[in-house]
Amino acid sequence: MDFALPADDDPRRREVRAWLDDHPEPSAADLAAAGYVAPHWPAPYGIDADPIHQLIVDDELRHARVRMPVNPIGIGWAGPTLLFAGSADQQERYLPPILDGSEFWCQLFSEPGSGSDLANLGTRAIRDGDDFVVNGQKIWTSGAHISRFGILLARTDSEAPKHRGISYFICPMDADGIEIRPIGEMTGGHTFNEVFFTDVRIPAINLVGDLHDGWRLAKVTLGNERISLSSGGVLWGNGPTALDVIEAARPVADPLLRQRYAQIYIEHRVLDLIRMRTLTARLKGEQPGAEASVRKLLADQHGQVVMNLARDTIGADGMLTGVEQARGFVPGTDSANLGPDKPESEMTGPSWHDGFLFSAALTVGGGTTEVQRNIIAERVLGLPHDLDVQRGQPWSSVRAGADVP
Ligand SMILES: Cc1cc2nc3c(=O)[nH]c(=O)nc-3n(C[C@H](O)[C@H](O)[C@H](O)COP(=O)(O)OP(=O)(O)OC[C@H]3O[C@@H](n4cnc5c(N)ncnc54)[C@H](O)[C@@H]3O)c2cc1C
Repeated sequence: MDFALPADDDPRRREVRAWLDDHPEPSAADLAAAGYVAPHWPAPYGIDADPIHQLIVDDELRHARVRMPVNPIGIGWAGPTLLFAGSADQQERYLPPILDGSEFWCQLFSEPGSGSDLANLGTRAIRDGDDFVVNGQKIWTSGAHISRFGILLARTDSEAPKHRGISYFICPMDADGIEIRPIGEMTGGHTFNEVFFTDVRIPAINLVGDLHDGWRLAKVTLGNERISLSSGGVLWGNGPTALDVIEAARPVADPLLRQRYAQIYIEHRVLDLIRMRTLTARLKGEQPGAEASVRKLLADQHGQVVMNLARDTIGADGMLTGVEQARGFVPGTDSANLGPDKPESEMTGPSWHDGFLFSAALTVGGGTTEVQRNIIAERVLGLPHDLDVQRGQPWSSVRAGADVP
């Protein structure tokens, strides 16, 4: 297997560079119009790029230090689901401002009683004339307070088996009856929210796909693999890589610290090989399957180890927030860092300390470590299904990636 990206004179590289010559400081709108924000999306939104082409575009833009629009849930999850199941009108209305980051999106999935077991959700949407009337509560909604729209899962048939009565909506976050309450984090920042729905009217044209087919679409949303192709930082693509931390620490005289640095280097290489395996599978037209869970399991734990080491290395400064020289090494965990208009330096946050605190969330968000282990146990090792002890049935959920029973 050739691990290197195509050479410097590859025509696809030259094409991006020529575009950059014409747009030396491209705006978010320029990048979106060129199809470079999500190159793997079909035209006119992307450029139909295959995985290698996608990595080439990312590589060239990164080298040119181009600032990309920030809209992780919009670009990463909502957009691909709208491409999969949205109407032509929905795609035309919502995709361009998702891509240029001018309309920020959030994800209204988790509820107090349904996180890993997402299909258990209780928020209801009942048809009334041209609207659905929504009542219920969501939790852990990242960025709800700065979002224009949210992707919402709600139960539309309470008689049907739990996986079959769920629908998928585009929810305007300024609708009457929506109350957003902040949840403070141990980083001191504010990303999460509780979102309460009291008789919220959502137009029926905001239903995505077919009525009661939301579970299938939720799987599309959460199965989006783009992030697993990225070689970004250890905090879900943000923050430093292990190599950045090693570089910042050189030379390391302490023999015990040297062992820890050697360990993160090895983990980094292993994760890179898994990434290349996923990429190869995609190039052959295969679905990566449980490899995504293997990578998430390893990458999330690796992120915690790297941030632990980074914080230990900077000594007493590691106990402070706002350490100036460490700027750029942590994710945007505060609402002030998430807005679409913020400059890149502000979006990356103030210190390794924040990154260290945030890293605790890695093994929970997007499916917990235990859930990833269940998938690997069942799909890779062929062990029996996990049992839902309350119901005495095989347990499954979107976040567990299990098939709909
Ligand atoms: C940084 C971050 C951002 C997030 N952003 C969003 C967002 O924007 N929108 C949104 O909808 N949600 C969001 N979430 C919520 C996230 O998806 C849930 O926290 C996650 O799915 C786990 O659900 P839970 O918190 O309800 O935990 P639970 O499902 O209640 O799990 C509690 C514990 O039980 C374990 N457990 C559960 N089921 C099993 C099982 N079958 N076998 C073994 N162990 C099990 C879990 O691993 C965990 O340790 C975010 C979470 C984080 C950390």
